[in-house]
Amino acid sequence: MFDSLSSKFSDLFGTLRRKGRITPEDIESTCQELHIALLEADVALSVTEGFVEKIRSRSLERLPEIRQSTNQSEEIYSIINQELIAILGGQGRRIRYAKSGPTIIMLAGLQGSGKTTLAGKLARFLKEDGNTPLLVAADLQRPNAVTQLQVLAESISVPIFAPEAGNGIGDPVKVAKSAIIYAREKVHNVVIVDTAGRLGIDSELMQQASSIRDAINPHEILFVVDAMMGQDALTTSLAFLEGVGFDGVVLTKLDGDAKAGAALSIVEVTGKPILFTSSGEKLTDFDYFYPERMASRILGLGDIATLAEQAKRALDGDSAKRLEEKFVSGQDFTLEDFLEQLGAMKKMGSMTKLLGMLPGANSAAMKKQIDSIDDNELVRTQAIVQSMTPGERRDPKILNGSRRARIALGSGRSVTEVNSLVDRFSAAQKAMKQMRSGGGLPAGMALPGGMSLPTATPMSSPKSAPKKKSRSGNPAKRAAQEGR
Ligand code: GDP
Repeated sequence: MFDSLSSKFSDLFGTLRRKGRITPEDIESTCQELHIALLEADVALSVTEGFVEKIRSRSLERLPEIRQSTNQSEEIYSIINQELIAILGGQGRRIRYAKSGPTIIMLAGLQGSGKTTLAGKLARFLKEDGNTPLLVAADLQRPNAVTQLQVLAESISVPIFAPEAGNGIGDPVKVAKSAIIYAREKVHNVVIVDTAGRLGIDSELMQQASSIRDAINPHEILFVVDAMMGQDALTTSLAFLEGVGFDGVVLTKLDGDAKAGAALSIVEVTGKPILFTSSGEKLTDFDYFYPERMASRILGLGDIATLAEQAKRALDGDSAKRLEEKFVSGQDFTLEDFLEQLGAMKKMGSMTKLLGMLPGANSAAMKKQIDSIDDNELVRTQAIVQSMTPGERRDPKILNGSRRARIALGSGRSVTEVNSLVDRFSAAQKAMKQMRSGGGLPAGMALPGGMSLPTATPMSSPKSAPKKKSRSGNPAKRAAQEGR
């Protein structure tokens, strides 16, 4: 996701870090680089200018304080992170449910933006959350849109209201209106109405969407927009905002080579929050939008929070509970837990996507590594971890050269692969510890360009971190002490 912008941020931080002592000139050159990087990522000019100006003024204003810091570049980094979160909307907004009767959600957007797919994803998502959604096939224009929604509804066992076959025939306003009556009768608490789009904005499309809106009075109109459209997405959203109006945005196709332009500009340009994101064709490739997680990914820090959530979802109830207790009580996440999660990951599908959420995943080196991964990688990784002794899984620090060579031999993999797995695991373990201590970014964690975050930034709260018992620095001695 947003690889190109992310790698530019990495370069920028690398340069800044090498400076050591930050001067006003360094702030200016950073701002200029940021300006270019954002425009190249297709971020709207007004948003870019506003963003860069905030970084400039806040950095200059805080410069005397920044100069006192032992790691000055990280203070600038922290400002950039906070401002990124702000332009992404600050806090994620969730669906506003109706106080009584069904919550009516209308989907609007251009044809091909992913509305119908999204209707299925949203229904599944809300059903898992304990709701009783009803899908409504009111896109009677696009060939096969009704059938597509019927197939989706069946696959997720969600009822559908589809009295018309569509393909250009039928009255979508009538369908939508009848659907609400039906939903009340059958006591559905959420109604998701799929509507027609066109390949481009036209008055007929706007009129039809407005008529459906007036007929059903939705609690939420979600504007579905293809993130790959870049700046064009903004033009379309403004036209919809004026012609139909909407309450929130759903960004789709974030898995493609989407530039960051739409995501970084849409909240500022439309004044509407992003509620959900879609990042693939599968029904599970969908989640709430979390501004801080997206900022983290853009900055190359990955998205450990989502990764952990997805893994938890794929684990069975008992394992998930046990891992959660471990996490909350401050115990280390071990390779034994990882092994259990690998089994769960197999259920979750694409390994590439999961690893793409790790810190540094957008760096050229790691990206190359991730891109080269195939599904068998999961099996190989499992083999490596399975070749470790329980003691090694609990404490990978004891993995010296000969142990690593034994594991490599046992799993039929190379020592380099064993090393890489252990390194990646350590990074994830560190991130989990930091999340536990305050939900923020990992303190002291390697950033693009070799930076590390200061422990005193607002993004981390080391004070609340559970205290670690001091242990022997000698792995062999420690292993002996612990009876391994
Ligand atoms: P609609 O015309 O707005 O209803 O669009 P569809 O739901 O039919 O989606 C158009 C195409 O985009 C379909 O091939 C979908 O499978 C695909 N699609 C939808 N969402 C995503 C997404 O998040 N990522 C990717 N890669 N494809 C998507």
